[in-house]
Amino acid sequence: MKATISLFFSFFLFLTFSVSSQNSGNYTLVIHGGAGNIAKANLPADKIVEFEAKLTEVLKHGDSILKAGGTSLDAVESCVRMMENSPLFNAGKGAVFNADGKNELDAAIMDGKTGLAGAVAGVKTIRNPITAARAVMEKSNHVMLSGIGAETFAAEQGLEIVSPEYFFTQLRWDAYLKAKANADSMDNMDKKHGTVGCVAVDKYGNLAAATSTGGMTLKKYGRVGDTPVIGAGTYADNNTCAVSATGHGEFFIRNVVAYDIAAIMKYKGSTLAEAANEVVMIKLKNQGGIGGIIAVDKNGNIAMPFNTSGMFRGSFGFDSLCFYC
Ligand code: ASP
Repeated sequence: MKATISLFFSFFLFLTFSVSSQNSGNYTLVIHGGAGNIAKANLPADKIVEFEAKLTEVLKHGDSILKAGGTSLDAVESCVRMMENSPLFNAGKGAVFNADGKNELDAAIMDGKTGLAGAVAGVKTIRNPITAARAVMEKSNHVMLSGIGAETFAAEQGLEIVSPEYFFTQLRWDAYLKAKANADSMDNMDKKHGTVGCVAVDKYGNLAAATSTGGMTLKKYGRVGDTPVIGAGTYADNNTCAVSATGHGEFFIRNVVAYDIAAIMKYKGSTLAEAANEVVMIKLKNQGGIGGIIAVDKNGNIAMPFNTSGMFRGSFGFDSLCFYC
């Protein structure tokens, strides 16, 4: 496995990276750790090392699952869980604080083979919201559960429940206090990043997508972002692509971003790179909708456009990808 991890800066702002290849018994997995004002100048060198180390660990983990014949669904859930368990990302353990000083988490997963999906929104005590989302998909007749109902369901399913304090991190708390003191608006999103996501195609040609987030610092209590909204922040369909988004959720919901990329491929016959570029670099950008996406199609082509100064991301596949090629 040859993994390529990169932190990307403004030089790459308008580029969409993709690699063409045929998927015959091979597999591809892509992860993101959020888009935003991510530039070397804003990040201490030791933080960059930490991010790279964690992203590499996650990619290696995903590779081991897919190499052993695991499904894309298992791989995306497991990789997102790993990132939820790290305080580095705005998901699970490292979630940001809302206007009330609370952590409210959203997550979704979708299986491109069956078209089934599951999501949880506004949960405060589920250690791994992505696993709860999968349980909603597989163990209930519903697509999305929210708040206390989702937490009750997760407990019934035997998932790990934690006290809300589990999600406290000093870094996010300080960011919350600072944002509050500056009367920062949630719209000032370019300063925030860290939502996590994973898309994959497995050896059997099946696609899956998973996304998890704490949302946006100072979001209004009860606010639900794009992440758990199927078709907005998360989408997978074997016939087109799997997409996981990160960015200012309201724009992603209004533009049904993840589904739009799939629909452009389906109805316009565009390639994944063309469709992703059209939505992220033209439509969203023209509206001031900042963020990015990662996506993969059934042939293992990937696209990772973002219109922010950076997006943590990495991928591996049968083509030993090189972002700088
Ligand atoms: N999309 C997430 C939300 O709006 C935030 C992010 O990706 O940073 O909740």
